[in-house]
Amino acid sequence: MNMFTSQHYRRFAQLETPFYYYDLALLEKTLQVADLYASKYGFHIHYALKANANFEILQPIVKAGFGADCVSGNEVKRAVEAGFPPEKIVFAGVGKSDREILIGLSENIFCFNVESIEELQVIDALAAQVGTTARLALRVNPLVEVNTHQYITTGTAENKFGIPPRDFDSLLALLPKLSHLQIVGLHMHIGSQICQMNNFRDACQKFNEIRRWFEQHGLHFAHLNVGGGLGVDYHHPDQNPIADFENYFDTFNRYLERQPGQQVHFELGRALVAQCGSLITRVLYVKQGQTKHFAIVDAGMTELIRPALYQAYHKIELLDPFHGNRSLQTYDIVGPVCESSDFLGKAITLPQLQRGDLLAIRTAGAYGQVMASAYNLRDKVPAIYENQP
Ligand SMILES: *Cc1c(COP(=O)(O)O)cnc(C)c1O
Repeated sequence: MNMFTSQHYRRFAQLETPFYYYDLALLEKTLQVADLYASKYGFHIHYALKANANFEILQPIVKAGFGADCVSGNEVKRAVEAGFPPEKIVFAGVGKSDREILIGLSENIFCFNVESIEELQVIDALAAQVGTTARLALRVNPLVEVNTHQYITTGTAENKFGIPPRDFDSLLALLPKLSHLQIVGLHMHIGSQICQMNNFRDACQKFNEIRRWFEQHGLHFAHLNVGGGLGVDYHHPDQNPIADFENYFDTFNRYLERQPGQQVHFELGRALVAQCGSLITRVLYVKQGQTKHFAIVDAGMTELIRPALYQAYHKIELLDPFHGNRSLQTYDIVGPVCESSDFLGKAITLPQLQRGDLLAIRTAGAYGQVMASAYNLRDKVPAIYENQP
């Protein structure tokens, strides 16, 4: 079923562009399906706020009972404001500043995911300073290769994320000296937009080995946090509007070893919010290059940077219920920003475009609006919400 109908077209035609459009009914349905398959195994889901931190998006996620995964002090504050219970908030990130650590401590969040030995020492010192004990999970780097864009892999050998196995001995030696820390979990996150379940299976197997090694050395974890990364179908958003949560959680259930009572946590961003959002833009000009046709639209990398940053593909469609009689043409869909990397799609075949046409850039709910910038002093991109309860 198509997300956009002629009613949408008529409504959008009255509005100023560009804007983000979110279908909260699809978000709701996605949350239900994710919850259904996670609950089957007693798994806990934390929503990764960095994918989209709009209050209208956070509200249904809070209501669904999910926790929050934050990567900055301001995200921790946003999560608390939106109503996530602090005991369901985790805080990851390789570069937490002292101020951000103190925010996490004062909000008494569930757990810090710690990414280096130096960070352990800093958190211990800050916790001592404010007279508290910090709960932590050790983020380990399982050193697995995953099939995704190189900028979004996080679990390979030369990577800034996580504590590498070569540091484990010194970590164990140090722990007894850090009296304001309580190690509650073991954590990994191997990357994003991962669609091949064998990548998760491999990660589980490495993670099992690491967990056993720590247990053999006397360190036990009440919680296992295996991160996020489940991919979505950018090519067929209408055929596959909901990510494959069934297979995903089933893979972890099969391959992740647990001790009795050990709780399993996930941190999902993209898979929960990507498909419910689209960026709506208007064609400003159609330009004939030497060999190419360019459609210059009123949204660009300042509204959606994923194509420029990761060469990401987004499905682009013409919103015109009457376009049936136009012939097809291939376009580079480019934005107004003064950068050659400012494109939304390359070699996209669409009905012949003209000034004023409305386009939907699909699957833009995650890492879209939240990455918008004011470069070229562009206006802040607004959002509209459909099916708000
Ligand atoms: C970005 C991130 C996530 C979420 O990743 P998705 O691919 O959006 O599911 C989870 N955990 C950590 C630590 C992250 O940095």
